[in-house]
Amino acid sequence: MHAEAFVDLDAITGNVAAIRERVTPGMVMAVVKAGGYGHGAIPAARAALRGGASWLGVVHVKEALELRAAGIGAPLLCLMAIGADDHAAAITGGIDLAGGTTDMVARIAAAATRAGTPARVHLKADTGLSRGGATAAEWPSVVDAALHAQDRGQVKVAGLWSHFAASDEPGNPSVSAQLIAFQEAVEHAEKAGVTPEVRHIANTAAAITVPRARYDMVRVGGGIYGLSTLPGGAPGWLRPAMTLRARLAQVKRVPAGTGVSYNHRYVTTAEATLGLLPLGYADGVPRGARGHALVFARGRRWPIAGTVCMDQFVIDFGDEPVAAGEEVVLWGPGDHGEATAQEWAEALGTISYDLVCGLGARVPRTNGEAQ
Ligand SMILES: *Cc1c(COP(=O)(O)O)cnc(C)c1O
Repeated sequence: MHAEAFVDLDAITGNVAAIRERVTPGMVMAVVKAGGYGHGAIPAARAALRGGASWLGVVHVKEALELRAAGIGAPLLCLMAIGADDHAAAITGGIDLAGGTTDMVARIAAAATRAGTPARVHLKADTGLSRGGATAAEWPSVVDAALHAQDRGQVKVAGLWSHFAASDEPGNPSVSAQLIAFQEAVEHAEKAGVTPEVRHIANTAAAITVPRARYDMVRVGGGIYGLSTLPGGAPGWLRPAMTLRARLAQVKRVPAGTGVSYNHRYVTTAEATLGLLPLGYADGVPRGARGHALVFARGRRWPIAGTVCMDQFVIDFGDEPVAAGEEVVLWGPGDHGEATAQEWAEALGTISYDLVCGLGARVPRTNGEAQ
């Protein structure tokens, strides 16, 4: 390997089991959208199911169909209602769909007629994120439309759900406000005749920090990979699953005063050994990482010397006698002193999800299983 994102599938299994233990009797939906947050959707899904996840969540129908094509038959929900998606294929595949508008409910009902089987729909309330879902004013008509489609045999209302705006800010008053709004939406729907199998609102941060948000199920994405958007990252009982590592492609000795990488934004202050790493911003190493001491080799962290290029970047190893082919770790679980994705995120002003999801297609995802 010249570079790889090694995924510790046992960590995913263990994370799901640890979350499950905390939220039981609530169920865990493992969110494996966006290629399992860059970890590989199919192996991540299987690892999560081994850990006791009852459901899987993705965004697009295409992502859901890929899981089904891999032989994964677990309950599966598409979290975003997208008009252009092939809903009939989803319904045929036994994939649950989100509905947050009367229009989407009508589209799904029509797709169910084409598919010749009822669609399972989770009605989404917008309780304050102002993203997808029905506002409080729209909710009664969405519920009505779904119940009418259910009476016609086109739809089964399987779930009621919502999503938080700031569950990763402990104490943010929007969390309790959204919980009140969600409870009202649930009660309205149930009074109107909906008998949901699952009610769900909590993501990783809420599942961990807001017990009353757990309802019947928590939708955990970051947490299953050992990540979270909470301040300071995930709690210690979750283990980061991904290690991003690469081997030095070349090593050279240069004199003091040598300009390094595009625009010479780094200049050596002494004679130095430069090491070239074959990963760049096309692979998901943020261009803004220049100058940050985040890369781990030989028991310590080394600063990135000069601009991160599309395919490569350089490290100034000083007088450390590194050799081509040596392994360097960008991020991992932190066991040996390497930075975590959380530390990269803090250094770069983003969240760990942004880094793992941003890994490029060129980076092989390995997990010790046959590929
Ligand atoms: C991505 C997503 C989640 C998972 O969020 P995490 O913070 O990664 O746990 C849950 N629900 C919805 C609707 C999402 O889009």
